[in-house]
Amino acid sequence: MKRAASVGPARKILITGASVAGNALAWWLAKRGFDVTVVERHPHFREGGQNIDVRGAGREVLKKMGLEQAVADSGTGETGVRFVDADDKTVAQFDVDELGADGPTAELEILRGDLARIFYDACGEGVTFRFDDTIEAVAETGNGINVRFKSAAREEFDLVVVAEGVGSATRELVFPGENKPRWLDVTMGYFTIPKAVGDGRLCRIFTAGEGRSIWLRPDNKGTTRAILTVQKESDGDDRLTREEQVSFLRERFAGVDWEADRVLRGLETTDDLYFDVLRQVKMERWSKGRVVLTGDAAWCATPIAGIGTTLAIVGAYVLAGELSRSPDIQEALKRYEETLRPYVEKGQNVPKFAPKMLQPQTLLGVAVQRSVLRIVDTPGIKQLVTKLFVSSTDDFESPVYDHVSA
Ligand SMILES: Cc1cc2nc3c(=O)[nH]c(=O)nc-3n(C[C@H](O)[C@H](O)[C@H](O)COP(=O)(O)OP(=O)(O)OC[C@H]3O[C@@H](n4cnc5c(N)ncnc54)[C@H](O)[C@@H]3O)c2cc1C
Repeated sequence: MKRAASVGPARKILITGASVAGNALAWWLAKRGFDVTVVERHPHFREGGQNIDVRGAGREVLKKMGLEQAVADSGTGETGVRFVDADDKTVAQFDVDELGADGPTAELEILRGDLARIFYDACGEGVTFRFDDTIEAVAETGNGINVRFKSAAREEFDLVVVAEGVGSATRELVFPGENKPRWLDVTMGYFTIPKAVGDGRLCRIFTAGEGRSIWLRPDNKGTTRAILTVQKESDGDDRLTREEQVSFLRERFAGVDWEADRVLRGLETTDDLYFDVLRQVKMERWSKGRVVLTGDAAWCATPIAGIGTTLAIVGAYVLAGELSRSPDIQEALKRYEETLRPYVEKGQNVPKFAPKMLQPQTLLGVAVQRSVLRIVDTPGIKQLVTKLFVSSTDDFESPVYDHVSA
């Protein structure tokens, strides 16, 4: 990999994207004495998003930040997963108590907006946030990187960190054509619907054949989080307009049993549909000169890997640690990538057959799935099934950096 000549220490850093990765990184950099600005394209702090989980090494980083309890207190309270049939009878159940951190429900389950908000609030005065703006152009100068924003502002930084999520425009601007996405042949719609009597503390999953499943998950807001999943090739689903996304889900789930009608009614009135056509980001390098990628923009593993949020949090810790440890930006970025890449690759190791097994195409496939689930719903065998949900639960040994006071 060809690298730019070494440059001096980074002090003034621009982060683009104020979600989980960007806000966690801003917290760490500010604590380590950097001058940090975060630019976010949304007009204000972006609430919303559904259930995400923090596992293993991510939890350890939260502990170091002094935020583990705050995250636990804001959790969704989900206690496990129950696979159901059309009559809502239990096919198999996996409780968090039984499987601990490795199960389909993690010990720390939280809504995306709540987690990003915890980091955002914790940054306090130490970080400048600018909403409703994006990067339009970057140009390296001898001593820094000049950034032109959509708002017409121009400013020079020592380093730009791109934390814009899977569809990052700045990644495409700086690294054109370098992302070789791995499509997982799954399209998902996440949205909030009114809570009903049957919605308890368990996530309920119903598989309907033709590659479809419906998930209903509890939250801590008095509502229910619905997920509609369709296992199929992407066929340009990522280019659908909002209206087309709603029609897509409506048509696919029309006439499905169980609670599909109720979920589709909720879809008509929801204001927070998050539509995701699952693809992993595959970059051969995460940095170029004074621009570095982090979080989903660098290595999106997709929600079915169950580790994206953990990687975003651990990535923030390592990037800030390396930047503060090394006086040379290029050296720091090299170490950041060397430290994280094996962990990320493990996290991205989601077999393509996993979504196919979770969302069978035929009714016979659904029947087989239920029989298998009944068998695995026995002590000892349960651990095996968790591999369908979580790509890698092995702990990452976080490097130790100078202590910062949380
Ligand atoms: C609104 C929303 C809802 C989500 N809902 C779910 C969910 O239900 N389930 C799930 O598993 N995952 C969800 N995710 C993804 C999840 O948050 C990430 O997989 C993970 O937490 C890693 O976060 P990240 O910070 O790298 O990326 P993201 O959380 O995707 O955040 C990227 C941030 O960058 C901002 N941004 C994008 N482009 C630009 C730009 N050009 N300039 C400036 N800012 C930009 C976005 O507005 C966003 O705030 C959601 C993400 C978002 C943004």
